[in-house]
Amino acid sequence: MQGSGRAGRGGAENVYRSIADFAATGRAAIKYRGETLEYSDVAARARRLAAHIASVCGTDKSPVVIYGHKDIDMIPCMLGVSLSGRAYVPVDTSFPESRLDAIIGQLEPKLVIDFAGGLAGDDYVVLNGDGLERALTAGRVPDGDLVPPDSGICYIIFTSGSTGAPKGVGIRHRNLKAFLEHFNPLFSIGDGPHTVLDAFSYSFDLSVGYIYPALCNGYALHVVDRRTIEDIPVLFEDLANSGAEIVVSTPSFIEMCLNSARFDRSVLPLVSRFIFCGEALRGGCARKIMERFPGAKVINTYGPTETTVLVTAVEITAEMVGSGRSLPIGRPLGDTLLRIVDEDGRAVPDGAEGELQIIGRSVGAGYFNRPELTARAFFEDAETGLSGYATGDVGYNADGLFYYCRRRDSQVKLNGYRIELGDVENNLLRLPYISSASVLPVYDGGRVVRLAAFVVPRAGAPTSGRGLRLAIKRDLAKLMPGYMIPGTVTVLGALPINDNGKLDRRALSELLYPS
Ligand code: AMP
Repeated sequence: MQGSGRAGRGGAENVYRSIADFAATGRAAIKYRGETLEYSDVAARARRLAAHIASVCGTDKSPVVIYGHKDIDMIPCMLGVSLSGRAYVPVDTSFPESRLDAIIGQLEPKLVIDFAGGLAGDDYVVLNGDGLERALTAGRVPDGDLVPPDSGICYIIFTSGSTGAPKGVGIRHRNLKAFLEHFNPLFSIGDGPHTVLDAFSYSFDLSVGYIYPALCNGYALHVVDRRTIEDIPVLFEDLANSGAEIVVSTPSFIEMCLNSARFDRSVLPLVSRFIFCGEALRGGCARKIMERFPGAKVINTYGPTETTVLVTAVEITAEMVGSGRSLPIGRPLGDTLLRIVDEDGRAVPDGAEGELQIIGRSVGAGYFNRPELTARAFFEDAETGLSGYATGDVGYNADGLFYYCRRRDSQVKLNGYRIELGDVENNLLRLPYISSASVLPVYDGGRVVRLAAFVVPRAGAPTSGRGLRLAIKRDLAKLMPGYMIPGTVTVLGALPINDNGKLDRRALSELLYPS
């Protein structure tokens, strides 16, 4: 088959059809820890799983949770759930079980696919271990077209919510299709086989930004897990043997690699592009990539989970880096519209700051079962009739390029992870020995490097000082993923209050940055 021609068609039309087409080529689709699944294996496993789900769930169309970290079969499972006409919900094992329970409580699934092992539910069926293996690999492969029968929600990704409970962003098949259409020209490097790095957890929508583009181009995903990432020499050896040519990553991950002088073409000899996403790309990071990976493109992109991974992009040039200005986030992709509006929703003149609004076909369906929250951020654009999303990001447009400035609210990015400070505060308040709490981001060189918590213990709290701080970190780990746990906890007798009787965040930040 003609890879590049088909890749464009598959990317623009139907990723499932592309997978079926590439199944005839013998190409590798997923590589993980020495195991390889070819496209034909992926298609067969997804089809078998879809039939199994139909037999277990019958007419129940509730979303299917996929709990785990990295496994060669996680992506076939996502595809299988789609083929069964249901939405899948990837939940990484960095989410502790209580947060998984909160997600399950919102979704009321009939089926949970458990790669971590050990889940048992009274209200839902758990598919894991040998049962999961059989559902994927045993028996006849059902025939029929590889097209999800439903044009509804493809996946739901849970992200930090300010109330302390995560919120589920629903992305439809047609949103994903629009994303693939507008992103593929930037992503595709022609006919394969080529290899794409898969180093991010599947509950982070950045992973959608390489899984589907890779599959619709017939490329192989080289899967890297947390255990490997946490050991730099092991990671570098793994990368050096990966053959990866496309890296879609947060700046934080690459900055972590760049901290080692060894991170250069000897680690990723074939890389042709770094596509950054999820948080601000700093000039210093882009410059180091240009120096250590001559010839590789550096592309900055921007977009929230709610609008399907990313909606703008720009290739970063040496001039942009040399200008000393913050780097642009780019131009809207495809037919996406970006507007910068003032507090009343009116477009501001070029160069003026305002809230970024995204309007277009990749804008998702809203928050699962949270109509009031959805109505606050999603809207129908009067001019185009298309869906819009008010991002809460402040930015401006200069000479056709968009720039990101800051958030309007208390959402932060820490190592690429999206965190609502209210989420952390509300979980602190769930601890029975805490009476009040506030959380601030700590900045260094313009980016958040950790969270700092300020707490007031209840009278008669069992411990104080160091014991209390340790207890807080231990108990929070049962409620939130590790990346949300504050790096420091300061115990106070009372939180400072300003003249209006409100929490005085400035006084708190003076404790962090004494003048
Ligand atoms: P997430 O939903 O996790 O992808 O996070 C989306 C948020 O990350 C956006 O609303 C921005 O606040 C931030 N973000 C994403 N990409 C960029 C970028 N290139 N520069 C600055 N901030 C970004």
